[in-house]
Amino acid sequence: MSRSKNMEQNTKQNKELTKRNPIVVVMGHIDHGKTTLLDYIRKTNVAEKESGGITQHIGAYEAILGSKDGESGKITFIDTPGHEAFSKMRSRGARVADLAILVVAADDGVKPQTKEALEAIKSAGIPFIVALNKMDKPGANAEKTKKDLAENDALIEEWGGKIPLVPISAKTGEGVSELLEVLAIASDIEDLKADSQAKASGVVIESHLDSKRGNTATLIIQNGILRQGEYIVIGKSFSPVRIFEDFAGHTVKEALYGQPARVVGFNILPEVGLMFQTVDSKKEAEELIRQETAKTEPSFVRTESTAGETAFEIPVIIKADVAGSAEAIENEIKKLESEKLKIKILRSGAGPINEDDVKLASSSPDSIIVGFKVRLDKTVPELAERFKTAIKTFEIIYEITDWLREEIKNRLPEEIIEKELGRAKILKIFKQGAKDQIVGGRVLSGVVVSGKKFRIKRRANILGEGRIQELEQNKTRTPQVEEGKEFGVRLFSKLALAEGDEIEVIEEEKIKPDI
Ligand code: GDP
Repeated sequence: MSRSKNMEQNTKQNKELTKRNPIVVVMGHIDHGKTTLLDYIRKTNVAEKESGGITQHIGAYEAILGSKDGESGKITFIDTPGHEAFSKMRSRGARVADLAILVVAADDGVKPQTKEALEAIKSAGIPFIVALNKMDKPGANAEKTKKDLAENDALIEEWGGKIPLVPISAKTGEGVSELLEVLAIASDIEDLKADSQAKASGVVIESHLDSKRGNTATLIIQNGILRQGEYIVIGKSFSPVRIFEDFAGHTVKEALYGQPARVVGFNILPEVGLMFQTVDSKKEAEELIRQETAKTEPSFVRTESTAGETAFEIPVIIKADVAGSAEAIENEIKKLESEKLKIKILRSGAGPINEDDVKLASSSPDSIIVGFKVRLDKTVPELAERFKTAIKTFEIIYEITDWLREEIKNRLPEEIIEKELGRAKILKIFKQGAKDQIVGGRVLSGVVVSGKKFRIKRRANILGEGRIQELEQNKTRTPQVEEGKEFGVRLFSKLALAEGDEIEVIEEEKIKPDI
């Protein structure tokens, strides 16, 4: 591209870029006040007509910043319990929020989930602000919490680091407006921009089946503008933008970059954490899905088996009638661990399975809640269904491991096992193309089977691989050729074969790993 054309494009791009709302996620240890803070901000900083009109939580809301004289900006808060989207997005390597608030209760300090949140924020690579909460409580110890943070590699500004810290009380509201101001400054530094000319794209933060209306998704628009009449594509699922609402449940005709929105009418329930794209017509939506599907089909060049890679981690919450049985169950469950599988106990204790347990479970994908001689709190089944959290209660301890083994199996990624079907020697090269070649050979052992994968072996070295096509014996197509027989074949492989090479014919089998 010529230089002037490049510059022209740049200036054109600059013209289209507009400042957008920051998207903020609130994280921290359970009971440190995330929900209370989000509720307080919703009550005080959401426009009267909106907050009055909020009929249902959609998992995100827009707060207005500023004084009585006028608004100075908006912030989109993600308030999905457990911030499921955040952790799912993270596991997919994408990013949902621009900034994070790390809530730490001053009377409790840094706790395991504070550390997890810190790790999550760091791996997402987003700036964050510490909200030092519960400052109204007599037991609040700001200095100890600051020290805890420093020990966890989170050095606050006051201590010479980069992280802003604002003492607050989410209960009384003290300090919350300062927190929002600091957030606005951090967001200005980030210089968040969106393209107002682009078709909307962003991320799914919640999805559920509404029994009256159909498959519903809450979206955060990260770029572009979403308009009524367009089509949204999420993975293999799509929906017309027809039933289209803002965060308060009001019907809208468009939603802007930085804003949350809800769309109803997906053919398949979209997965939380996936990115969405927008197109003009149903035809384009279907074409996009076809392309996506083709991309995700397994390709035959993949040889690595998933076995031997890093262990898969399953988070488990245990609730039992007494602490002693919870401990016993923990010990039993830990016995399922292996090189391939780690079990992470998120919580283990006595008492009924409550909303907090589900919230905690929903913050890590694949988590499982196990109860022993306990009941579920009333709200738990519905919440668990919404977050697709697996819960089961038992009366007999040994039944737990059997059930868990099956649940875990279903969550483990499939392994690809390779089996050698046969070997053959290449005797003659008839035709050599860029991607394929026609050769003649003899089966040394086992069988050569059409459609299977093969590896090329030259003097004990594996050089490459490919796939067997159009297998012939005595100039007639055949599905397989036996030991000792000669054959002609078209081999798909980028590597050019040579006379004297050996091929190893391989069968790939997908299996559910055993635990
Ligand atoms: P989450 O699990 O992090 O969402 O925590 P919640 O917002 O549910 O808060 C847990 C408990 O702490 C609730 O009983 C809140 O009322 C209480 N709480 C939250 N923030 C404050 C605060 O600033 N001061 C006091 N005294 N209590 C608070």
